[in-house]
Amino acid sequence: EAKNLGGHTYRFYTQELNSLAREQLELEQALRAAIRQQEFELHYQPQTGLNRGDTVGVEALIRWHHPERGMVSPGDFIPLAEKTGLIVPIGDWVLRTATRQLAEWDRLGLPPLRLAINLSARQFADPELPERILETLQAAGLAPERLEVEITESVLVEDIDAAAAMLQRLVHLGVSVAIDDFGTGQSSLRYLRRLPLTTLKIDREFTWGIGNDPDDEAITRAIIGLAKTLKLRVLAEGVETEQQHAFLREMGCDEVQGFLLGRPMPATQLEHEWQKRARTPG
Ligand code: C2E
Ligand code: MG
Ligand code: MG
Ligand code: MG
Repeated sequence: EAKNLGGHTYRFYTQELNSLAREQLELEQALRAAIRQQEFELHYQPQTGLNRGDTVGVEALIRWHHPERGMVSPGDFIPLAEKTGLIVPIGDWVLRTATRQLAEWDRLGLPPLRLAINLSARQFADPELPERILETLQAAGLAPERLEVEITESVLVEDIDAAAAMLQRLVHLGVSVAIDDFGTGQSSLRYLRRLPLTTLKIDREFTWGIGNDPDDEAITRAIIGLAKTLKLRVLAEGVETEQQHAFLREMGCDEVQGFLLGRPMPATQLEHEWQKRARTPG
């Protein structure tokens, strides 16, 4: 009868919950071990100027090589890292590793690239963040102007005054700030003029519609126009086709990032590609 059924449903539900909770706990323990055992790696994806076609920057994207599960994508562990606070030590590792890598590329004679790293809400709320960033840059021997941090709109709107204060501190150091996945969060156009931002990154969702969805094209065009008006750099993410590339160039987009230009790749591969290009005349 009904009561029984309810009981079954409840038991089923708690079993589901238990297995979900167990899986989360396992993942959390694995994540802690990953920090100790250095199972993380950074890949770097080129950011290319639309004008001259040169790579002007790279975005560092974390990869986790789990001993049994293989490669775990950041979408599957960053949210948990954020929830558990493990993102703080992981984020420190990302910052340290990426800045060292950039300094190494400087020594190897690569062009002076800009380095973009992703910051989660928890990192951005840490009052010690600017000092951490400054110390890490100094340890690597890099000027703060070489670094851009990427945050999402949701990080800003949570507490706009706190966010504005943090942005001021970062910009004061010389670090620039990009809004990642722009247009998909709780966009408030008001914050754009209130905050000392550098770059808008058009979410790949809109880029993908170029060539087949007039609405996405209109949104892309509008974001580029907005960025121009506010004197912000604008970069389109997720560029996969020549058609998207041509459209963005025509619209006056500053920079592009996507599989068409280059996938996220290990540091050594980026070096090889650069050496290959340096040997090719013209
Ligand atoms: P994101 O910062 O928006 O990074 C862009 C994502 O789009 C990356 O996925 C990249 O591999 C992918 N991508 C780039 N170009 C293309 C393209 O042309 N086509 C397609 N289909 N995908 C493209 P990834 O590496 O899986 O990272 C996912 C998200 O995880 C990132 O989104 C970022 O929010 C987060 N994340 C990655 N690394 C870190 C990190 O070190 N710290 C923090 N806090 N978050 C990170
Ligand atoms: Mg990003
Ligand atoms: Mg993005
Ligand atoms: Mg994203």
